[in-house]
Amino acid sequence: MSQLVSALSRLPGIGRRSAERIVFYLLKARHDEVDELSRLLIAVKANVLFCETCHNFSDQKTCHICRDPGRDPGLICVVEDPKDVIAIEKTGIFVGLYHVLLGALSALEGIGPGELRIQDLVERIKKGRVREVILATNPNTEGETTALYIAKVLKPLPIKISRIAHGIPVGSMVEYADQATLSRAMDHRTAL
Ligand SMILES: [Zn+2]
Repeated sequence: MSQLVSALSRLPGIGRRSAERIVFYLLKARHDEVDELSRLLIAVKANVLFCETCHNFSDQKTCHICRDPGRDPGLICVVEDPKDVIAIEKTGIFVGLYHVLLGALSALEGIGPGELRIQDLVERIKKGRVREVILATNPNTEGETTALYIAKVLKPLPIKISRIAHGIPVGSMVEYADQATLSRAMDHRTAL
């Protein structure tokens, strides 16, 4: 039981108290409810893939956004996490494609450029068609460092590079910004 409490407290947003409450709940729950939960936990990893092109969550080799012929392939929005794709998609203002880095540069956590999907982004751009890359990493230290690093790497390429405006309060995350703020930050992006 203490092993399960420790495992649950490693999940984002769940502290030790919450983990204990979940375990107590599970102990009292019906067998079929717990069976269903464990089945879903295993299935989430088995069925969800990352898109080969943009690294967003996908149920196929290529995600539904990359497959959509209505999207503008000349515009790529770079985000840290698949959750940011969901947040920006909710605004409905972005018609281009995404590139998910699956993290941000962090000296503290030992995450360097090699751990992120930055080289893949360079390869995508080199294939042509891309006119503009919008850097929509989070407005915190890691996100800013990542945006500056990518801007430097992409500088030699013949494309426009922009950063979303600082409409999002510093330190808050793209995924938590409300839709109006996020739309404004996209609209008022600045060239780097
Ligand atoms: Zn994709």
